[in-house]
Amino acid sequence: MTRPVVRFAPSPTGRLHVGNVRTALINWLFSRGQQGKFILRIDDTDLERSTKENEEALKVDLTWLGLTWDDTFNQSDRFASYDAASDRLREMGLLYPCYETADELDVKRKIAQSRGRPPVYDRAALSLTADDRAKLEAEGRKPHWRFKLSGERIEWNDLVRGPQSIDTSSVSDPILIREDGSYLYTLPSVVDDIDAGITHVVRGEDHVTNSGAQIEIFMALGGKAPEMAHTPLLVGADGNALSKRIGSLSMGELRARGYEPMAICSHLAKLGTSDNIEARATLEQLCGEFAFSKIGRAPARFDDADLNSLNGALVHEMPFETVRERLTAIDARAASEAFWLAIRENCTFVADAAGWVETIFGAPAPVVAEEDREFIAGAAAHLPAGDLTSESWSAWTNALKAATGRKGRGLFMPLRKALTGMEHGPDMSALLPLIGREKVLQRLG
Ligand code: GLU
Repeated sequence: MTRPVVRFAPSPTGRLHVGNVRTALINWLFSRGQQGKFILRIDDTDLERSTKENEEALKVDLTWLGLTWDDTFNQSDRFASYDAASDRLREMGLLYPCYETADELDVKRKIAQSRGRPPVYDRAALSLTADDRAKLEAEGRKPHWRFKLSGERIEWNDLVRGPQSIDTSSVSDPILIREDGSYLYTLPSVVDDIDAGITHVVRGEDHVTNSGAQIEIFMALGGKAPEMAHTPLLVGADGNALSKRIGSLSMGELRARGYEPMAICSHLAKLGTSDNIEARATLEQLCGEFAFSKIGRAPARFDDADLNSLNGALVHEMPFETVRERLTAIDARAASEAFWLAIRENCTFVADAAGWVETIFGAPAPVVAEEDREFIAGAAAHLPAGDLTSESWSAWTNALKAATGRKGRGLFMPLRKALTGMEHGPDMSALLPLIGREKVLQRLG
């Protein structure tokens, strides 16, 4: 197979969300897995709604996720190419001017529907004579331009959806250029895909219906259409839209909440596929496991709970060197390997380390139940002498067991609560040396 060339083509009209990131990720995993090329195309033909700020933000987000690109360009720099392509289509008789207003089109649609016909544009503009057009333009009307579909059946073998077929006689000739001369997305995308040598168009299934017209435009302008893959949409765990969930947050918000890029990428690479949803520490691992054939056709469920547990799974395994800087930023006392190894399994997010800094090095209020008062008051006497080490906890609790007859939970839990103020937490053998003799004695009262 020749090396694939793919593109991720976001519109900088807002921030990146998990839905667009999944499309970016699938493109990236597919192309990198085959030593191909990943192009970032900025779809900013809508000059009013696109902003440089959004463009910068999406580049920051993609870089943070590790989805780096080999090349990038903006559609707003390429109007001359789109103009040239429209001229060619006009010469071929495939792009024709129409003068109906939105209201007139609406009336036509309603009439068609009332007669039980599909609301397909009737191509009335094709029968306008040069005189008719001159008259309309003299009235101040400006044309919009439609692509003349062949009326044939367009077929392709979608890499995710399997064999697809669109009857172009059942859809309206798409408008490629608006009255004000601006381009809709359809034509620029094809012109760019041809010029960039795109071999595979990989995008969400909301674009399936565009594919019929786009394949015809590819054939008119360039010969062959690329391979296509349309992935099912993302929904929440309950099957409904992602609104009001973590999945509706932007990448910037997810980053601020402390999610690891690989938790997001692991979840997005695996959901809706035949693979288990498991954390992977690197994109390269995800690349090795990627295949279009694993992607199912049902909507893919983005589960907030899964994302959290993937994040936790990554944090639990994270080597100290990977987090050293972040721990230093939290608190100088957190920047030790012993601290990190003691607490990491009790963190879902790296930022959870802050709570453990307080528990270990701060002054948590000891919790001592009435029936444990005497036991706790006498416990200090059995603490092994000298500096506390990882052996001290078992030596101490063995001595206490022998002295008091307490065992199991009745032995360990009162000590844990007195020393940490909590019922759960890291292994006490690791905590004891971190808390240190002085604080242990203080907390025992
Ligand atoms: N800018 C389009 C979008 O974000 C690109 C679609 C495509 O990949 O062809 O929906």
